[in-house]
Amino acid sequence: MTLHERLAELATFGATAEGIDRALFTPPEREARERFTAWAREDGLHVEQDRAGNVFARLGGRAAGAPVQCGSHLDTVRNGGAYDGAYGVVGGLEALRRIAVSGEAPARALEVVAWAGEEGSRFPLGCLGSAVYAGLTSYDEAAALVADDGETFASALRGPSGLLDGVPVRDGFPPPAAYVELHIEQGPVMEREGARLGIVSAIAGQRRFRVRVDGVAGHSGTVPMNGRADALCAAADLVLAVEAAARAQEDTVATVGHLNVEPNQTNIVPGRVVLRIDLRSIDDARIAAVERTVRAEAAEIAVRRGVHVTIEVLEARAAVPMETRMRLLVRAACLERDPNAIEIASGAGHDAMCIAQIAPAAMIFVPSIGGRSHVGDERTAPADLELGVEALGATLLAVAASGVGSSGEAGASNP
Ligand SMILES: [Zn+2]
Repeated sequence: MTLHERLAELATFGATAEGIDRALFTPPEREARERFTAWAREDGLHVEQDRAGNVFARLGGRAAGAPVQCGSHLDTVRNGGAYDGAYGVVGGLEALRRIAVSGEAPARALEVVAWAGEEGSRFPLGCLGSAVYAGLTSYDEAAALVADDGETFASALRGPSGLLDGVPVRDGFPPPAAYVELHIEQGPVMEREGARLGIVSAIAGQRRFRVRVDGVAGHSGTVPMNGRADALCAAADLVLAVEAAARAQEDTVATVGHLNVEPNQTNIVPGRVVLRIDLRSIDDARIAAVERTVRAEAAEIAVRRGVHVTIEVLEARAAVPMETRMRLLVRAACLERDPNAIEIASGAGHDAMCIAQIAPAAMIFVPSIGGRSHVGDERTAPADLELGVEALGATLLAVAASGVGSSGEAGASNP
């Protein structure tokens, strides 16, 4: 089966009218892991899983020691696309298959990983499997997570859509020697630049806030305009202030994508608004600068409009630069195949940002047609998918042959 046939088959698991629903430990997601396991075994790879639900397929190398890993995730967002995550997993399998049939064993073992639950679409934690693997989230903490349908992670893991039958469970979470993730860009930059391969420079840091604006609800007909403390009007000012603050910084994005209005009635002045801000940049100083501006604006809006504003940080993740030597190896492999390859920052989070905490890590991007992702019509040109697999294979061999992450070298390079 070709790369394209495998991706097409995976896309049938969890297919809906608008896209693909493959949340962690649901029947279609398990089906995807089972299929991955079957393909890996067909390709002569040794398959294991761990007790977080991550699945590993290994090709032996000439030297013993930790493997050089690649991979991504098989779960999707609700009505997601066929390539986000799946491409990195199936593309990784294809790269290892080609290396295996070449007959020459790689210098070190290579492994393709299907990380569990990257999207956080069922359990309230993104990059779940890779975070547990990297020790960023403790196993007990993960086990206690409750899905939106009320089931705990521990129970789902033991359930019919949890761990796979007939696949050995690996002891603990041993760090790889190095990690390379192949992924679709999920944005419009590469297409705009005419690049078919992208060398990821860093994964953006991210801060999420919950903002509560308390005003005074009242009758829409009897409270005069000059006597109001309209929470939604104040929130509207704040939304625009967030946009302006992000625009004032380079390579920084901020979004208010979630807003709750109370009581949300046509004839009542809004009394309370709860909104969420998602703020990202590859430069943590710019994130901090936008946060300062937004807090100052919020204080000013509160006074001017007679409302009370509270800001709570929900999540704060620092930007993760890709490891320098890994990035150079990715760069060489990409430029050899695409002279127009570009360095690009990842605005989206990926499993690579977790694994970067325990091993030298890098990422390769291929373009997304129209920059569309997390939607059913997410696409990448077949020739670009091919080129990405070639670049990944070359990178894996180069990393395996290099000293990066070999025993004797001091731990991870991204402390
Ligand atoms: Zn992804």
